[in-house]
Amino acid sequence: LTFLGIESSCDDSAAAVVRHGPDGAPKVLASVVQGQVALHADFGGVVPEIAARAHAERLDHCVEQALAEAGVTLADLDGIAVTSGPGLIGGVLSGVMLAKGLAAGSGKPLLGVNHLAGHALTPRLTDGLPFPYLMLLVSGGHCQFLIADGVDRFHRIGGTIDDAPGEAFDKTAKLLGLPQPGGPAVEREAAQGDPARFAFPRPLLDRPGCDLSFSGLKTALLRARDALVAEQGGITVQDRRDLCAGFQAAVADVLAEKTRRALLAYLALNPAAPALAVAGGVAANAAIRAGLETVSAQQGVRFLAPPLRLCTDNAAMIAWAGIERFRAGLGGDADLVARPRWPLDASAAPMIGSGK
Ligand code: ATP
Ligand code: FE
Repeated sequence: LTFLGIESSCDDSAAAVVRHGPDGAPKVLASVVQGQVALHADFGGVVPEIAARAHAERLDHCVEQALAEAGVTLADLDGIAVTSGPGLIGGVLSGVMLAKGLAAGSGKPLLGVNHLAGHALTPRLTDGLPFPYLMLLVSGGHCQFLIADGVDRFHRIGGTIDDAPGEAFDKTAKLLGLPQPGGPAVEREAAQGDPARFAFPRPLLDRPGCDLSFSGLKTALLRARDALVAEQGGITVQDRRDLCAGFQAAVADVLAEKTRRALLAYLALNPAAPALAVAGGVAANAAIRAGLETVSAQQGVRFLAPPLRLCTDNAAMIAWAGIERFRAGLGGDADLVARPRWPLDASAAPMIGSGK
């Protein structure tokens, strides 16, 4: 099967072609991603109208480029998959309209894909991971633990009650005068800092379950910075490094401990070959990744982190989710409504109790 995927739910315009033959591993034939960081840089966040217009202008070209790189034409495809939510609705609509046009013109089947399902199914594209596995999605917009139990079966067992960790990294960078995206900048600074100099809280560790909170860390950072400014009139290079190191250590600690609990809840299902997979840009952070690897190893769980280009927003994961849904006989018109909100866990109720 050969599928075209289209993604435009946030600030990346992306198109990709993925092929999966009857034998062998699936192959990403082309994956084009056009980011919009520069377009939104002056506004301190993604501006929905600017994002929607940029998607409308660029998606055509992304698709053409992906098809050309893959060496296929629309006629060679078995289907077209497009992100139909959740995300910024203007962007989602740009993608859905383009996909509908292409499908109508070529007569190929059209499938709507949940963006989060795209992330959650990625370890099956990269590693052929069997169900069930535990998925930690940590990005600029999301933070949740999902038990992936089937192409269309995800159980959310916990997640952030406020900010996403990537958002917290980005705000931290902003407060300290570092460039966006904040994650890589904060990690660089943290490498030369002392994580013990400033006391950052470890939110929600005192409460049972797998829920997380990151907004308090941002406030702690703001307070520490303001105290330094009041005391010495500004912050030094070393102050900044120490603040970054303290903040990053707090995020890494909380994610590791909550992941440990999520693994216990998941292991209660007795999977034969337990695995933890991560997705999202924050998974690029070496300290965070090390913490996750450690708790996985302690519980005898395989740890998987797909290559970063497939961890962050991309269309290969959408094409792949399309292939998976097509094979499973899933997907119809109902998935093609553009949805700003679309929780993966339809029941929204935890299937099993969150472990402590
Ligand atoms: P979503 O996919 O949930 O809609 P998004 O598009 O913002 O959100 P990604 O592209 O997966 O998410 O990841 C971007 C986020 O990852 C940014 O917030 C960025 O700061 C963060 N990030 C990237 N690299 C690192 C790093 N090394 N350490 C920490 N955070 C990082
Ligand atoms: Fe995403």
